[in-house]
Amino acid sequence: MECESCGQKAVISGPARCKQHFIEHFETRFWETIERFSLIRDDEMICVAASGGKDSLAVMHLLSKRYPIEALAVDEGIPGYRDRTLEDLRSFCEQRGIPLKVVDFNDLGAKSLAEQNPAHPCSVCGVLRRKALADHSSEYDIIATGHNLDDECQTILMNLLRNQRSLLSRMGPRTHGREGIASRIKPFCLTPEREIRAYCLLLGITANFAECPNVVKSFRWKVGEALNRLEQSRPGAKRNIMERFLSEVHEDTARSESCKRCGGPSASGLCRACQLVVNL
Ligand code: SF4
Ligand code: ZN
Repeated sequence: MECESCGQKAVISGPARCKQHFIEHFETRFWETIERFSLIRDDEMICVAASGGKDSLAVMHLLSKRYPIEALAVDEGIPGYRDRTLEDLRSFCEQRGIPLKVVDFNDLGAKSLAEQNPAHPCSVCGVLRRKALADHSSEYDIIATGHNLDDECQTILMNLLRNQRSLLSRMGPRTHGREGIASRIKPFCLTPEREIRAYCLLLGITANFAECPNVVKSFRWKVGEALNRLEQSRPGAKRNIMERFLSEVHEDTARSESCKRCGGPSASGLCRACQLVVNL
């Protein structure tokens, strides 16, 4: 397989690109996404929501080339997984002089995921993780996350399949912050997950592609598998879903209300995180 731009040996297909042209294309799309959606404005304080996985490490790697950044991680206490990714994260941040703060689920007044023992760990974990980030985001203007094109398409489809149209308003490349809560940006929202993996491998950013053991129990996993099959039979399907969402749905649903308990974003009354903490 030869690079479509220069004829050298390609390192990735669809379209075929050599290492140099792939990295150029990958980084150009990252900066173009930031520009297209005005994700970062002058003098904004940026924090990266970092898990230690490939997506957040790649976001930090790129953003730190142009901006001073800090990192915020949430420890859900998932043994054999989060401890390893946090170890990678600590050494990545140390090597690059990026300040890192780690927040524990206990800091929210919530039990660790193992102690809660839910049948659907991801629904509890995702809600509490977003809450932890929101609670610790007041000192920043922006929280950047590593959400990629696959994540975004999965979320769009999950919300539609559950008929939760109001939640679509929290999506998009930049959600607007409010008093005490930073805006959230997703500079990889147009980048396929497989390209982030290739980028990290080629640049030696991380060799650890460990997945949380709970991921296979999630609805997201099933939707992701279905999307991958669709993408195989109709290349470009994920990008089309995202572009359609950006052009129509997001404009129409870009509103959210406040939680009565914490003031964070909520579709109605109490946000999901406060419902979980109150019910403990
Ligand atoms: Fe949490 Fe589920 Fe993600 Fe694991 S896969 S970190 S349990 S949301
Ligand atoms: Zn090339």
